[in-house]
Amino acid sequence: MNTLFWFRRDLRLFANEALIQALENGAKHAIFFICDKQWQQHHTAPMQIDLIKRRVNYLQHALAQYGIRLHVIAAPYFCDCVTELMQFSHANNIAHIIGNREYELNEANRDKAVQAECDKQGITFTLYEGDLIAPVGSVKNQSNEMYKVFTPFKRAWLKQHQDSHFSVPPWPLSDNPISIADSELLHSDGCSEKWPVDDDAIARIVDNFICDKLAHYDDVRDIPSVKGTSGLSPYLALGMVSTKQLLITIQLRYPDILTTSKSKTFTWINELVWREFYRHLIAEYPKLSRGENFNEKYNALTWRSSDADFNAWCEGRTGYPLVDAAMRQLVQTGWMHNRLRMVVASFLTKHLLIDWRRGERFFMQHLIDGDFASNNGGWQWAASTGCDAQPYFRIFNPITQSQRFDPKGKFIRKYLPELNHVPDKQIHFPHSYLADTQSDNHCYWPAIVDHKAARERALAAFKV
Ligand code: FAD
Repeated sequence: MNTLFWFRRDLRLFANEALIQALENGAKHAIFFICDKQWQQHHTAPMQIDLIKRRVNYLQHALAQYGIRLHVIAAPYFCDCVTELMQFSHANNIAHIIGNREYELNEANRDKAVQAECDKQGITFTLYEGDLIAPVGSVKNQSNEMYKVFTPFKRAWLKQHQDSHFSVPPWPLSDNPISIADSELLHSDGCSEKWPVDDDAIARIVDNFICDKLAHYDDVRDIPSVKGTSGLSPYLALGMVSTKQLLITIQLRYPDILTTSKSKTFTWINELVWREFYRHLIAEYPKLSRGENFNEKYNALTWRSSDADFNAWCEGRTGYPLVDAAMRQLVQTGWMHNRLRMVVASFLTKHLLIDWRRGERFFMQHLIDGDFASNNGGWQWAASTGCDAQPYFRIFNPITQSQRFDPKGKFIRKYLPELNHVPDKQIHFPHSYLADTQSDNHCYWPAIVDHKAARERALAAFKV
């Protein structure tokens, strides 16, 4: 009888305890499903799909060196995975299927259906918690409930891990290589090429961040013109790197990192804990996967339905340079800096009073790091409808945010070259400068809303 490893959003060989367990059981087969219709329903960005395909091709070759065949099978919807898995298991005498748990509702329902079918067929189905440092359900308050505020969640998370010595089991090597024909590989259109998929290149990105950038992260992480963050989000979203392994690597350099949570180097770990917080929430509250507000009192809020304003936001022509440059960064590169995600999400939901779900979907359609839990968490945080969200009366001023985080307009100029000639001081809101200098003010869009009036409108709507 054989063991099968099922790859999902855990596209890595190393520090993948579930995969290592499967190999120790003697697994010679792994499987990955191309769920194109389901991905479409989930609004997965074409760039992320391309990254998945390139990584699966890489894994096919890498696994073949160890004598393991990765079968790539079309299963348009999640429900098709169940049928395909059972067929594959019968054909290959599979008695045990192993994978890593996913937390979103459709994924959890798919796994329930697989479990039911496995029970009928006498197959063992085991899921590991390979995506998280703290497994879902392990960080609870004294009433054994999920925390609804981040800081006590973080404290409990830290308490749980401060004395832990993490390790990842070694890779069980074997050497019976098999060959992979080119025809077995997936077609990539190359749109995600800027993100390498081989482990050596990814390890270099991790090393570079931990050795060079981590120490300055706290100082520069909010400056979009500086590459001061790790850029690891696409890899974390697809499980191409393990959070546990990242933590172990950081602890080699900073052994006290978890006991010095006020230190600057901890700031980065703090972000990983936010990631865990949002995953725990998604697992605990299925309503989040159904697109509902976390905080139900905001169900009464009346959002504006202006397609014209929404399209102006999507296309980067709101007349607020930082917002427009950020939206162009998203559409052109498939990635956006975190500070800017907060600014544009606030602008859409507060200044334009447009439903956060429209922005959430647009982000998923374009982000190479699109990740349901973090995206939903980020959007509901900005819209004030979320768990431990920012209060509704905190409305980012896109002009002062620009002055503070892009003082010389370096980031703005990169994506809005039409404003290159505008002096630093005026670049954050260049309309009167363009009018006064009688320069070609058609070169830039008029502001679609007045900041003060939009702020008042949002406050009034949220108060109701
Ligand atoms: P770093 O600053 O180096 O952080 C390291 C890692 O921590 C990130 O790769 C990410 O996995 C995690 N992380 C960082 N910030 C957050 C956060 N606020 N919440 C949860 N996890 C975090 N992140 C995604 O991975 N996918 C998304 O779809 C996504 N959508 C977002 C939408 C909005 C409206 C907002 C405000 C934030 C969103 N984020 C999302 C979180 C954050 O913006 C990105 O993770 C970060 O910008 C990625 O860049 P980095 O890898 O250089 O991050």
